[in-house]
Amino acid sequence: SHDAAISVNPASGETIERYPYQSPAELHRALDAAVNGFRQWAATPVLTRMNLFSNFARLLRRDIDELGRMAANEMGKPITQARAEVEKCAVLCDWYAENGAEILRDEATKIGEQAYVSFLPIGPILAVMPWNFPFWQVVRGAIPILVGGNAYVLKHAPNVMGCAYLLQRLFAEVGLPEGAFSVVNITNDLVSTAISDPRIAAVTVTGSVRAGSAIASQAGAALKKSVLELGGSDPFIVLADADLDRAVQAATVGRFQNTGQICIAAKRIILEAPIAEAFTERFVSAVAQLKMGSPLDESTYLGPMARFDLRDELDRQVRDSVEQGARVLVGGSKVEGRGNFYAPTILADVKPGMTVFDQETFGPVASLIVSRDADHAIAMANDSEFGLSGALWTEDKSRAKELARRIETGGMFINGFSASDPRVPIGGVKKSGYGRELSYFGVVEFMNAQTVWFD
Ligand code: NDP
Repeated sequence: SHDAAISVNPASGETIERYPYQSPAELHRALDAAVNGFRQWAATPVLTRMNLFSNFARLLRRDIDELGRMAANEMGKPITQARAEVEKCAVLCDWYAENGAEILRDEATKIGEQAYVSFLPIGPILAVMPWNFPFWQVVRGAIPILVGGNAYVLKHAPNVMGCAYLLQRLFAEVGLPEGAFSVVNITNDLVSTAISDPRIAAVTVTGSVRAGSAIASQAGAALKKSVLELGGSDPFIVLADADLDRAVQAATVGRFQNTGQICIAAKRIILEAPIAEAFTERFVSAVAQLKMGSPLDESTYLGPMARFDLRDELDRQVRDSVEQGARVLVGGSKVEGRGNFYAPTILADVKPGMTVFDQETFGPVASLIVSRDADHAIAMANDSEFGLSGALWTEDKSRAKELARRIETGGMFINGFSASDPRVPIGGVKKSGYGRELSYFGVVEFMNAQTVWFD
């Protein structure tokens, strides 16, 4: 809609809430508040800041049911996964509460005591965030940014504004200065206004390549740094010596959790020829057991897709690929009814050049690709405009290390599936974006590394 952000329950198609977009004057006031909040927060002692994050973790856990239900209703996330998302946010807060002060400590140089580097905050950071992890995407960006004393201005996806306002309520309750974390509900035009406004210091985006490219070019014109976490088409490579049962299990979760709507999901499953048939057989039976249903049902594993237009797009990608020669082993179509469900789908005989190989598939669709050998698998893994993350299955550890170096991604998970964790950085290469989030990297991305030299 042109005048309001609208939450629609994708399980039923019913409108939950309309949040009227803010005016330019309201944005102006929000940016003033962000600057004031930033000044107050940056002046708060580091240990007081870190202590606030442990309290925030406690509030997240206290309200886990309410938060989980909001995500389930607004974007269809199965309730057990929605609560797990909230718990993961709390774990992140605890980790930074414990490690943030150390990350911020002055860094020694090779020069000795004469020179050191200190990390200074730069101001309010504008964050444009997506709906697929409506809490995690925000918290994993906001906490590291707040750790450093910066402020965080959230422009969330219009279908999850209820989740945005719940987080804002908790940040107010925990005692964060007003404006240090804020939510703006604005159209893309006002996002452009905010990017060029001197009160915004930098921009971070998680979302599509289209959004990242539009926002990064505006940030570039305004000479502001941006961090981009865009799409992915992650390879999940299974070599002939892999533990097949575990690999099948990991591929099932890695591809189908969150109903497949994950940037680092195992979208292209590349199988070395000798095990391709055995893997496929077991994978088909594992996927057939996944339970689809109401997001509020405790036993549901697959919910509806978050947005109706994105289901149309996924369906088009599947149909195009079938026309190009892919074979449907399971699913392959929308589920009839009012809800926005898409049948869990496995496509076999997928090859480079097919739509599901070349484009990101953001939903419950797995593509199976057969490779002649490890070299061929790596060549196909790298035959992508994306480079976010990936997985590699082999029992040979030293070979895994050597092969991982040849794969052009921001992360490689050996004998597992890609996941984010506050202790390690996440981010991509190629069209998956640039910059890193989480760990030490997520904090220093938006800090002024100031050299202090005593002559
Ligand atoms: P978008 O990239 O359009 O949405 C992500 C965020 O960016 C939203 O807040 C959106 O707001 C905003 N946005 C988009 N364009 C602009 C712009 N020009 N200026 C300012 N803000 C902008 O993703 P979609 O939700 O449409 O999903 C489409 C595809 O993106 C998915 O199919 C998937 O491939 C990818 N995606 C990747 C994610 C990831 O985790 N890396 C997460 C979500 C999607 P608004 O809707 O108001 O434009």
